[in-house]
Amino acid sequence: MLILGLESSCDETAAALVTGDRQVLAHRLAGQEAAHRPFGGVVPEIAARAHVEALEPLVAAALADAGVTLADVDAVAATAGPGLIGGVMVGLVTGKALAHAAGKPLIAVNHLEGHALSPRLADADLGFPYLLLLVSGGHCQLLLVEGVAHYRRLATTIDDAAGEAFDKTAKILGLGFPGGPAVEAAARDGDPRAVPLPRPLKGSVEPHFSFAGLKAAVARMAPLHPAADVAASFQAAVVDCLLDRTRRAMDRAAEATALVVAGGVAANGAVRAALERLAGERGLRFVAPPAWLCTDNAAMIAWAGAERLAAGLTDPLDVAARARWPLDRDAEKVRGAGV
Ligand code: ATP
Ligand code: MG
Ligand code: FE
Repeated sequence: MLILGLESSCDETAAALVTGDRQVLAHRLAGQEAAHRPFGGVVPEIAARAHVEALEPLVAAALADAGVTLADVDAVAATAGPGLIGGVMVGLVTGKALAHAAGKPLIAVNHLEGHALSPRLADADLGFPYLLLLVSGGHCQLLLVEGVAHYRRLATTIDDAAGEAFDKTAKILGLGFPGGPAVEAAARDGDPRAVPLPRPLKGSVEPHFSFAGLKAAVARMAPLHPAADVAASFQAAVVDCLLDRTRRAMDRAAEATALVVAGGVAANGAVRAALERLAGERGLRFVAPPAWLCTDNAAMIAWAGAERLAAGLTDPLDVAARARWPLDRDAEKVRGAGV
């Protein structure tokens, strides 16, 4: 089984070819950092236009890398949401055109399902159910992954996502965009105990997250301390919160066979190390995809497509792009609305 995957929900345009037995035959990615950097964040209109320009050449390059043609593909999987709607529409309509041209099924993939199943692309031994900490630029959730298309949300953020907090902290400290890797690098030279910062919701009964107060505290403390100390103290606070909340969710997910982390923030070394220790304490397996598979890419979309195709889940060509699409409401695909 060979799946072509397309991703265009934020500021990464990507195309990949992945087989049903977990071989990534090609994965191509075009970032847009330079186009967005002057604005200190992703500008939706600039992103959508960049996806239009980048996607077709990326698909051609991925097919060439893999040494296959469109006719060899068994299905086309494209991100159908959630994300910046202009970009999502570009990727989905391209996926529809390619699927139609090839006479192969279309699979409309929830970007979050791409993140959620990416650990199974990285690790063939990871079975269901598993407890997933999904930490990305737009989301911070704890999910019980019961199977393909079966997600039970145990917790979410009541304000900002963890990745968003990394990006804002980088902006406050003048470390540039995107912020996560810059904060992680700056934190290496800093003292994680130097700056007093809050741990929002730590110890609260429900395993939800909150990062707005932490971000505000970073803004207050930044002028008073060296940037490296602020970065290190911020990262330590985020890790503390993620650990505490995940520990709480574990008490409610006794059936989970593994602790799994995915999404862009899962690329962070301190986050990974802390979660690995927590899993060890509880006698659970720990799985984290390699860093390139944590941040946005099309291999995870192709893999989610492979998992859905194997489960018999394909979509009609009139499936709609969605700016919002909660992962635990998989059935809610909208037909015939525009794209
Ligand atoms: P979503 O998946 O929620 O729709 P997104 O697709 O924009 O959002 P991802 O690409 O999954 O998000 O993740 C990007 C986020 O991950 C950014 O906020 C970025 O700062 C963060 N990130 C990337 N690398 C690291 C790192 N090494 N440490 C911390 N954060 C990181
Ligand atoms: Mg990005
Ligand atoms: Fe993402």
